Amino acid sequence: MIFKSAKINAFRTWGLLLTMLGMGLMILGTAGIVFWGHAGKVVAAVGLVIGLISMMASLAIYFWAGMLSTSAVQVDCPECHKLTKMLGKTDRCMFCHTILTMDPEQANITAEQLESQQLKS
Ligand SMILES: [Zn+2]
Repeated sequence: MIFKSAKINAFRTWGLLLTMLGMGLMILGTAGIVFWGHAGKVVAAVGLVIGLISMMASLAIYFWAGMLSTSAVQVDCPECHKLTKMLGKTDRCMFCHTILTMDPEQANITAEQLESQQLKS
């Protein structure tokens, strides 16, 4: 899956999605007890376990994103002139999603060429 956004933002999106999923599953699981009584307890248990796992995963992603953003490089975006953070050699601007690069070899190719390169590797 390719996100047309900066890597740090993509991590945050995934973290948020997993948190929502986990909370949703836990709420649905608990609701299962109310609707189906005894049989719902199994649904509730499964929902709670999966919900907890995805909450933990989202926590890990948030933690990882936090660690990564400390090593991110701050640059002035040449397109929108805002201060953005870059991860790795190529990343997108957080605000206008322009692809930025630190690598002079890749600095002159188009966004489409870069995307096909990223797909191959
Ligand atoms: Zn920008």
